[in-house]
Order: sequence, then structure tokens, then C-alpha cells
Amino acid sequence: MKKALLTVLISFTFGAGIAQNTAYWQQHVDYKMDVAMDVKTYQYKGKQELVYTNNSPDTLRKVYYHLYNNAFQPGSEMDARIQSIKDPDARMVRKVKIGDTEIKESRIKTLKPNEIGYLHVSNFTQDGQIASAKEVGTVLEVTLAKPILPHSKTTFNLSFEGQVPVQIRRSGRNNAEGVELSMAQWYPKLAEFDFEGWHADPYIAREFHGVWGNFDVKITIDKEYTLGGSGYLQNPNEIGHGYQEAGITVATPKKTKTLTWHFVAPNVHDFTWAADKNYLHDVVQGPNDVAVHFLYKNNPAIIENWKKLEPLMVKVMGFYNTTVGNYPYKQYSFIQGGDGGMEYAMCTLMLGNGTFEGISGTAAHELAHSWFQHILASNESKHPWMDEGFTSFIEDLALNEFAEKKVANPFKGSYMAYAKLVESGKEQPQTTHGDRYDENRSYSISSYVKGSIFLSQLGYVIGQEKLKETLKRYFNDFKFKHPTPNDVKRSAERVTGANLDWYLLDWTETTNTIDYGIKDVKDNAGTTTITLERIGRMPMPIDVLVEYADGTLESFYIPLRMMSFEKENPTPSIKRTILNDWTWAYPSFEFTVAQPKSSVKKITIDPSGLMADVKLENNSYLAK
Ligand SMILES: [Zn+2]
Repeated sequence: MKKALLTVLISFTFGAGIAQNTAYWQQHVDYKMDVAMDVKTYQYKGKQELVYTNNSPDTLRKVYYHLYNNAFQPGSEMDARIQSIKDPDARMVRKVKIGDTEIKESRIKTLKPNEIGYLHVSNFTQDGQIASAKEVGTVLEVTLAKPILPHSKTTFNLSFEGQVPVQIRRSGRNNAEGVELSMAQWYPKLAEFDFEGWHADPYIAREFHGVWGNFDVKITIDKEYTLGGSGYLQNPNEIGHGYQEAGITVATPKKTKTLTWHFVAPNVHDFTWAADKNYLHDVVQGPNDVAVHFLYKNNPAIIENWKKLEPLMVKVMGFYNTTVGNYPYKQYSFIQGGDGGMEYAMCTLMLGNGTFEGISGTAAHELAHSWFQHILASNESKHPWMDEGFTSFIEDLALNEFAEKKVANPFKGSYMAYAKLVESGKEQPQTTHGDRYDENRSYSISSYVKGSIFLSQLGYVIGQEKLKETLKRYFNDFKFKHPTPNDVKRSAERVTGANLDWYLLDWTETTNTIDYGIKDVKDNAGTTTITLERIGRMPMPIDVLVEYADGTLESFYIPLRMMSFEKENPTPSIKRTILNDWTWAYPSFEFTVAQPKSSVKKITIDPSGLMADVKLENNSYLAK
């Protein structure tokens, strides 16, 4: 999703960091759903058949489904969280005056029965036998009729009834921008079981983790509505609405009141759609013949922005293809969902009003999630920094690439925001579950910003070329899987041969910070001895740039011993000397430059600004 609070293997063995050493496996789902939407009551009814393949080595006696809609009810965990967190999401509260004081009231708290969301399941069977299914808030606990043995399949059938809530966040109806139906997390969605066990997280705020598989979905709805969503429409010439093949005229008989849209979405872990009577629908050809759809309200105030967005997003998609790996599906849809932005399989639901900068930034962000969530499906609840951070990283790269004025370091603002969070004392380690941060602000900076710095700083640690290779290696090794933090680190290690365990551990599992300083610069018989000190707990390899009085530059590189690695010279135009390595336990490091102190004009630790040193004042020396 978009940062709202910062307006700002076939057969693979996991590393030793994960308490498990068996070959990689993942569960598989084949969904078939048939749903009918009543656009007067915003209630829908459907049937679901799910063929579940247990590829795990375990015998399963229970399964869990997510019933996300149930979060949008007074008294839900989501409601309770909005009421208790210090900085609730502005979209989920309204300001109310009580006497002289203004308070923020949860919008969920005041939903009426016909405005709440719900999703109820009935007639649950497993291979034709009745199984007991118990609704517990936003989760359905199913005690199976018979165990599912390792490496076997079973078929679940169920009926469901839902009501689309007035939009609070992400999914919902009739939102602030007037979009009628944003249908995200709308169906009973099987929870993921992986090498760590079940991930049947209640829906409190964030975010999602799903089972890889195939979706076959039929949606029956009033014929006036245009839909956009995941997958490929199977009956475009029957539906029309801009999906029909060139030259085809679709004539829906007058007496026909509804249309049944048939979508197939292969190799995804979610299925999302949106519908509105007033969508404009443009289709543009993207890189590698991907059809890029744009569905937005027929609102004169926004049409120009959306038209401008189309060629830019085609370019951005091409940039992501070359930076990470080719987008593997045949379509992608940018859909005005009218609330922030959230990534889904082959589509995004995003805000559509506002400035061009606003929508293009959001669109570039959500599209980037196609790689970092919908192809590389890390667990967003447990490791939100992996998808939000990596998405923000390539988003910033892309926006800089296509900006009128490029900057040398597009991540500068991120380093400042991270340093501010550290200074506030409110930082929590990135191993924190997305719902367990004390404040939304610390979640956002930790996930989006510190997660992005994980990569930009890795570029400092291993070199920019190796970082580029790492992203491609990570994509190729883990696409259509559930990579873990250790997997990213292993991709970088495989590409470089460096040892990076310390980097993953200190940066993501602790709140240790980086602080190096120039302690002393002194004359030493016509040469100059420079003493550096390590003040922060986190180790780093160090680049030092020395500027002499005559304007010449010389750089020095101090490898970090525990990495067993030397990076390429980041600025080959400047002569570089590789010094002895610096081992972490030594608080200081001394080296000598050939010129006298009187010739040394300036010394800078990390001239690139890509090392997240939290105290920059002591990083440079300027001759008096
Ligand atoms: Zn995001």
C-alpha cells in the first residue's frame, strides 16, 4: 500500500538463519467462485470450490480462512485498534468536538447495520463431507472432516454471503471519490500454511499473505457497471465495456439486466476487482505486449491527469522490467478505487483525484508492488519492510529516472526520515509484526523508509553493480514464491561472495545504529594521520574521501573484516587506496595520507550519503 502517513526453487534449502533445513515447498490453491452482486443493497452471494494441495510434510487437521469484511464492524479488533492507537490513520477517523476538545472518532464505531461489512460462510464441506466451520472475528476456523495427508489434494465447497462496507480502508463502497465498489479481500480466502506454520492473522490493520494458485471467478452484476481487476476476461466480446476485440460491436439485449463477467487469473495469490457505472476505460500497450488498463471516473477534473499517466506508467513498467525482471502476466490494471493505494494481483486500486504528482507517485508505487509482493510474495504482516521498502526503493529510482530534473541521491529524504525516527526514540526493530508497532508513524518509517534504505545502503556495502545483480538474482530465485529476509541476503551473498549475515541481523532485527566519526587529524612528519572512530553498534565498511588544498581528490576504502569482501571502486575517476580491514571490536582505526596536514582541506566519511549514519556532524573534517 502507499505510504499514507509520510506524505511525505524448484528445490531450495533455506539458510541456517531459519530454524529449518528441509527443501522449499508451498501450498497450492485452485479457486472457482461464482458470485452475484446486488447493487441496490451492496450485498452479494456466492459459491466457492477450492481444490487445496498440501505440499507440506505435515498432516493437516484444521484449515483457516480470512473473512476480512468482518473487520468493518463496531467492536471489531480493527475498530478497537483505531480507538487506542496514538496516531490513527486519518482516513479511518472523523474529528468530533466534545466541549472544547476535538477527538478523533473511529469511523467503524458508528457504522449502521446496513453500512457494516460482513462475510459469512455456510454449507462447508470437504470432499462432500460436512466439516465444522466456526467464525471467529475475521477468521474462519475449520475442523476438517478428515485429515489432509502430506502431498495430497482435497476439495472444499462453501457458500458465502457478504455485505460491502461503506469504505473505511481499501475495500468498500461509495468512497470519498465516488467509486461505487472496491472489492478487495472480499471472498473467503484460505490462510497460508508454510514452513513457519499457519498465518491466520486477524485483520487489524495490515497486511496480507496468501496461497499461490489459480482463480476462476464469475461475477454477475448489473450490466451498466464496468469492472476492472485481477486476471483475464474470458468473455470480452460478450461483455464489451472496452474489453471487446477491435472491430467487435457488443449488443447486449435490452431485456438483459445483468452480465456475468468471467475472469481467470493464473499463478497469483489474490483476486480483486472494482466496479462503477461511470468508469472510463483506456487500454494501452505496455512493454512485451502487456495490456495496460486504466479505469477511472468520468470526471472532467481528472481526465487529463489520467491520460498523462498512461505513457508514463508504460515507461515505468519497462524500467521495473529491466531493473528487477520481466512482468510475467499479460495485463495490468490501474483502477481508481478512491482510497490511498493498495496493490493486488495484476492491478491496483488507487486514488484518482488530486495532483498529477500525487497519482503518478501512487501509481508508480503500486505498480512496483507487482514485483515486491505479487511476484516476490514475502509475508507482508511479518516482514512489511520487504515489500514496502523494496517497492519504495524502485519507485524512487523510477520517479528519478523519468523526472525532469534528476538528482544524484533520490533517497536523501529517506535517510533524513529514518534519522528522525531514531532520534525520537520510538524506533522498533523491523522484525515487529505490522500490527504491533506502537504508532503508525514508526511502522511507516520502519517499513517504507528503513526497508528502502536496506537496499540503497546495500548498494554502498557491495557496490551499485552488485546491487543490480542482486535484485535480478532475487527475482529469478524467488519469483512466485514466499521469500524471507534471509533469502534476500542469500541472493546478495550468492552474487558477491560476501558474508552479509551481520547486515541483515543488525539492520533488520535490532535498532542498532551506525555512527562513525573523524576523531583526530594530525601531522606526522610531513604526512597526516587520520583517526576514525566507531560510535554506533552497527559495523560498516568505510569509504573516506580526502580533498587536498590543490583540489585533487583521493579516496580510501576500509573493508569490514567480517564481510570477507572488497567492493569495486564506486568512483573510478578518483584514485582509491584499499586500507587494512577494520574489525568491529576495535573502536578506532588509524591511517596515514602522504601529504602534510596543511595540504589536507577536507575529509569526508561516505561521500555518497548512502550509509545511514545517524550523526552526520562528525563525518567530515574541514581545515581551519
Ligand atoms: Zn506499498
